[in-house]
Amino acid sequence: MPELVPSDLWGRSAYRMLGNKAVWKKRIRPDALAKAKDQCEACGESGGTMVCHDKWVYDDKKTIANLSGFEIHCRGCDSVTHFGHTFKTGDDLAPMFAHLCRVNECKFQEAVTILKGATLLWEKRNKKKWRIVVSPALLKDYPEMEGLPDFKPALTF
Ligand SMILES: [Zn+2]
Repeated sequence: MPELVPSDLWGRSAYRMLGNKAVWKKRIRPDALAKAKDQCEACGESGGTMVCHDKWVYDDKKTIANLSGFEIHCRGCDSVTHFGHTFKTGDDLAPMFAHLCRVNECKFQEAVTILKGATLLWEKRNKKKWRIVVSPALLKDYPEMEGLPDFKPALTF
């Protein structure tokens, strides 16, 4: 499912915020791949480069973005999840739409409706200032993420 990251949170992925990249490369990503048995957790595809995706849970009332875990996505699902980025790259959009339709078993028009819905939600979330929290379970597994919510990286966009 498409999910656009509110602009206030751009550049604040776990990977970017983690000062210690070894934790990401040697533990977080391999752990996520092992949990997913090297398969995309959205569509089940295997093979090809897999993306370790940040799973955010948004509390729209309290404007808290909770980093709740990680999920393995294939390139196709990644292009759908972050379709805003896919649009920006100027790449052919047909494979993204085809993937979205196949995984959700829907027609093109329904895919457009799904993307419109995600865009409306994104615009609503863009009006807010978000606070990041990391789920206690993640902090237990990766104590290096302690303090990560306060990290304010310079945006590179
Ligand atoms: Zn997939």
